Amino acid sequence: MTRASATRPHTEPQPGVNPARPPRVAKARLRSCVACRQKAAPEQLTRWVFAGSGSVLPDLGQGEFGRGAWLHPIPDCLRKAPGGFGRSFKTPINSSPAELAELLGSAADRRVVALLAAAYRSRKLAVGRTAVELEIEADRCRLLLVATDAKSAARATQVQKIVAAGGAVGWGTKELLGGLVGRTEAGLLAVTDDGLANAVKATIAMAHSARLAQSVADSGAAGSRQRVSQRSDQKKSSTEVG
Ligand SMILES: [Zn+2]
Repeated sequence: MTRASATRPHTEPQPGVNPARPPRVAKARLRSCVACRQKAAPEQLTRWVFAGSGSVLPDLGQGEFGRGAWLHPIPDCLRKAPGGFGRSFKTPINSSPAELAELLGSAADRRVVALLAAAYRSRKLAVGRTAVELEIEADRCRLLLVATDAKSAARATQVQKIVAAGGAVGWGTKELLGGLVGRTEAGLLAVTDDGLANAVKATIAMAHSARLAQSVADSGAAGSRQRVSQRSDQKKSSTEVG
């Protein structure tokens, strides 16, 4: 033992380190999916909150108070979700996998609407073919939204380039997209902000995944659950681009 180490007081801070605050380790805060129990980053999961009387609701803005439970938005995990939520919230959950998938699909659609409205308010949204093509030419288009009924707009050369590069998603109808920006209809929207584009893309992927899970659950429960078919007319706002 050297003299220096023997005389150094134990409380002496090391240079540049505040002993009251341990150094921050850059580590993603992982969450466990209640269905498969695998850990994942929050961006890969959806947060759900207990809504009373054996029901749960997706909290896509992640701002709801109360304890949350996390779930992969994929068919396999939605199938096991009622039991997983029951364990997590310590009370039986009465919703079927198809009902949970439908809740998630609707919540994802509402979240896309909110994100696009925010993009429009902050002037990060180009509307209509001419404005969208200008943004594409200037390399400012971060995500192209093509209404699922906008076949002719989708055929434009500039649009096809973005579609081929994987920068486009199909979502909503011309009427729905137009309504977001005070027009009768709009077939094309370009999001020009990276953060908003990523959020919109992830949320649309979630909506598609929920619709897929819902159709899987519906077909699995055919016959015993005929009432679900009565809701099929609500599913048309979110489909893949052909
Ligand atoms: Zn899972």
